[in-house]
Amino acid sequence: MSSSPIVIVGAGVLGLCTAFELHRRGRAMVVIDPGEVNASLVAAGMIAPAMESAIDDVSPDHALLFRAGRDLWPAFAAAAGIVLAHRPAEWRGGDADGMEARLRALGFKARREGDRITTDEDYQVDPEQALSALKQALGEAVVIGRVTGIARTDRSWRVSVGDLTLDAEAVVLATGAGEAVAGLPEAARVLIDGIQPIRGQIGVAARDLVDHVVRGPGAYVAPMASGAVIGATMEPGRRDTGPDAETSERLAQAAWRVLDRSPEPVDIQWRAGVRGATADGLPLAGAAPGGQGLLMALAPRRNGWLLGPLVGAIVADVIEGRAALMEARALDPGRF
Ligand SMILES: Cc1cc2nc3c(=O)[nH]c(=O)nc-3n(C[C@H](O)[C@H](O)[C@H](O)COP(=O)(O)OP(=O)(O)OC[C@H]3O[C@@H](n4cnc5c(N)ncnc54)[C@H](O)[C@@H]3O)c2cc1C
Repeated sequence: MSSSPIVIVGAGVLGLCTAFELHRRGRAMVVIDPGEVNASLVAAGMIAPAMESAIDDVSPDHALLFRAGRDLWPAFAAAAGIVLAHRPAEWRGGDADGMEARLRALGFKARREGDRITTDEDYQVDPEQALSALKQALGEAVVIGRVTGIARTDRSWRVSVGDLTLDAEAVVLATGAGEAVAGLPEAARVLIDGIQPIRGQIGVAARDLVDHVVRGPGAYVAPMASGAVIGATMEPGRRDTGPDAETSERLAQAAWRVLDRSPEPVDIQWRAGVRGATADGLPLAGAAPGGQGLLMALAPRRNGWLLGPLVGAIVADVIEGRAALMEARALDPGRF
């Protein structure tokens, strides 16, 4: 591929991880994003192959993908200036036998005390710090704007940002659960239209509540620079991002139960984000159907942070024509 610019549409975790991966391989690119709050900022930032695999009872192949995503994090975080916290994650109460059995069957190390199961296999980032580190590393390559159209010309893609147009040899669609950009090839548009939005509500408590991630039935509580986060709902089909009072109450109650503490007066700011998901729960990473030089970094469901560096590496490999990682096939948009 020549040195024509690469345009990445969207500066959530997937767009920025892809951009940073290209940047550290010495490639020039531009990332275009309106700069509003997105799902990546709202998230808890857990890099959690073990807990996510056991809670969702995923297949061994799926767990291997999660583990591969996690294993890229230490080097990626060090290169990007992201603080990667390596602290225990604990499951409390409810189906302790099942959780333990699933963790062990999937090859994750865990220890048990009563109905508490702890693993050291999961990490965490603070999404605000991580997004800001990535943007800082990318500097002027991150531009505020909304892509309003994409059209194929003879040899490249014409990307419209309002009245402005850019010619790009490769375009990466990293638009989260957002609508398909106008002008995409039909096959790519159909795939994007099929992404399911899943609303997630989460609360930011202005006080330290835990020193490690604690999960249980109905809620998790995780440390965050600002205090703690209490999460999170999975509400398929919803795109609204205003906090819902009833949900806040339910999550808060579930969190106190998980912590085995009586409710205390804590200032909690509630917010919601929308995750995109495919039918098999895995992201679309790689060449988009129907377009030469059109790529996708989309729909990681509730594991966008976990899978960000893996998606970024897969997309960068396709752009550079490098041999694909072993995991690339499972995430190939062409699988649908
Ligand atoms: C409450 C909650 C908790 C979560 N916790 C975790 C967790 O602990 N661990 C984890 O791994 N994952 C977690 N997730 C999931 C994770 O946040 C998502 O999977 C991830 O953020 C998706 O990233 P993305 O880049 O695909 O989308 P987004 O973060 O939504 O980014 C997409 C970006 O594209 C931009 N965009 C859209 N259309 C255009 C356009 N036309 N032009 C320009 N820009 C455009 C949007 O404005 C947006 O900034 C959580 C999610 C939620 C909601």
